[in-house]
Amino acid sequence: MFSRLVQAAERLGRRLPSQCAICRSWQDGRVCSDCLQRHAPPRWRCNGCAAPAPQGQPRCGRCVTHPPAFDHAVAVWDHAYPWHLLVERFKFHDALDLADTLAQHLLAAVERYDAPAAIDCIVPVPLSARRLAERGYNQAWELAWRLGVRLGCPARSDLVLRRRETPTQVGLDLAERQRNLRGAFTVPQPRGADLKGRRVAVVDDVMTTGATISAVAKALRHAGAQAVHAWVLTRTPSA
Ligand SMILES: [Zn+2]
Ligand SMILES: [Zn+2]
Repeated sequence: MFSRLVQAAERLGRRLPSQCAICRSWQDGRVCSDCLQRHAPPRWRCNGCAAPAPQGQPRCGRCVTHPPAFDHAVAVWDHAYPWHLLVERFKFHDALDLADTLAQHLLAAVERYDAPAAIDCIVPVPLSARRLAERGYNQAWELAWRLGVRLGCPARSDLVLRRRETPTQVGLDLAERQRNLRGAFTVPQPRGADLKGRRVAVVDDVMTTGATISAVAKALRHAGAQAVHAWVLTRTPSA
């Protein structure tokens, strides 16, 4: 019922003009087709970490030598102009009006580059209780539940918790980020049974080095998850 309501609202929304969040022209969506054409050229990505990779190469060199803790990754755009500005507005400036559009683009990428029908449950990268109280929402959850509705797949914010606030990751390399995140995520004891043998998709807004989603993936695997996929809006190209 709820998913039918969402689909009806989307059909209606497509017929009404709205302002493109990037170029400000009045178009049929919050990200117009001109901006997509100009700023999102087709990009071959490593299916292990979603970083740009040479055409035809399934895995980048780093994933071959140091595979991440998740099995497969999908990113919609590079974390570069203008997408990083869009994500920052969504994340730091209460731009929840962008959530539907961003979720639609993430869904399209997931349907193209992954097999969402094989996923049993969708989990957002959690915020700490303090950060959640400051921000008022978890941007990853805003994407995760929308994907859950559209895919008919349960989205769960109670399966992984952030045990502690981690100092800012900005400027840290992968090894420093991994140290920073050690023990930061946990699956609460009674929830472990819901993960045994399950295939889980972890949703976040940005992947920089993959250290955060790897830390979540380790907690999920420790609790018995069989496979962990990473679905993100943007991927830092050079990391
Ligand atoms: Zn535009
Ligand atoms: Zn890779």
